[in-house]
Amino acid sequence: MSAVGRRALCLLVAALTVLGAAPASAEVPPGATARWDRIAAALREDPLFVDTDLTDAFDPVTRRELRVEMDELGTRLGARVFVFAVPNTGDSEANGREELLVDGVRERLGEDGVYLLIDHDGRLAGDAYGVPRYFGYDFVDWEIRRPADWARPFADLLIRVSRTFDEVAAAPSAEAKAPSGPVELPSFTKEKSPPREPAFWGPFSAGVLLLGPALALAVAALWTVGRFYALRRREQPAPARPSRRYLRAASRRALRDLAAALAKADDGPGAGAALRAYDAAVLLADEALRETEENAALDYVGVVVLGRQGLLALAEDLPEAPAFCQANPLHGRAVAARTLRGDAYPAGRVCASCADLPARKLKRSVLRVPDGRRYPLVPGRWQRGFGGRPDLAARVLESLGV
Ligand SMILES: [Zn+2]
Repeated sequence: MSAVGRRALCLLVAALTVLGAAPASAEVPPGATARWDRIAAALREDPLFVDTDLTDAFDPVTRRELRVEMDELGTRLGARVFVFAVPNTGDSEANGREELLVDGVRERLGEDGVYLLIDHDGRLAGDAYGVPRYFGYDFVDWEIRRPADWARPFADLLIRVSRTFDEVAAAPSAEAKAPSGPVELPSFTKEKSPPREPAFWGPFSAGVLLLGPALALAVAALWTVGRFYALRRREQPAPARPSRRYLRAASRRALRDLAAALAKADDGPGAGAALRAYDAAVLLADEALRETEENAALDYVGVVVLGRQGLLALAEDLPEAPAFCQANPLHGRAVAARTLRGDAYPAGRVCASCADLPARKLKRSVLRVPDGRRYPLVPGRWQRGFGGRPDLAARVLESLGV
């Protein structure tokens, strides 16, 4: 296990130890899971179920669009697709635990397929059963699990569902996951905490003070562990028009690899350049979360490039990270100057294989964003290119106002 992974696990263990003393849950009346039966019965009639509490958020147009998405995913996967929109608050039968609600509904319905839960806050969660695909650590990507705007939780619902289904359809083949035994509510039979004695309040107040940082620690640890698992997804070759999924996975991997190399590095000119690349990459990955899809894709490319440049600077002890291919920076190191005339293409150096290409083919090898545009045509910080000139980190930090 890598140092980052080990650190993540240590953090998680520490956080769970602090948080372990959860209060006993309130008792739940018999028949608490009746709601699962009700949802399952509705899904048996119609694979799209909207609870009456959420009717306002699902107008006929939204429902029609959802059905189109469901049909499309069903066809692509050859599996059934169930979507249910129901409140899932902390005082529900599942204590607001999304995976428990999804599992419970699936068990009651007894059908294989994709299950997507939309809750009262527009949050998405889901799982797939008997579908021969590997969905990784997160069934719904953490970036789109929650609405972008809490004040309008359903405004971007269709976009998020559509992206989720795209990623589900693109998941690699694997052995189908079977449901894991009977679904039961967590134990509600624990005794309630004894009434608080006056002497209890001292440590209790201290506990409240500790809980904030402990929660922050737990969230950070979970995020790191999630990232660690995401990084273990399989490698793919660098494409000319990389998908968001590929870029995100590649950028996480690049950050992890550079962090691990930096942890072992001695002081020197190369370490300085690598550290600058790492700082820029981390800030850029954060910035990508606030960008449009096309610009976010390019930011992720930037993270990957910075990560690789940092590794090269370390390996060769270079005071300045080397320039990468201006046509497609995912090709790697630039070796020769090359210009394309009559096109919105920033002059710069290209990799060994691009250096020998005829102009027409070189133009075709220029990196494209998910909507198909060549990257220099996307307004933003990447119009001047990724490569061509050394010290991309300095330029990125400048564009971020650092
Ligand atoms: Zn190239």
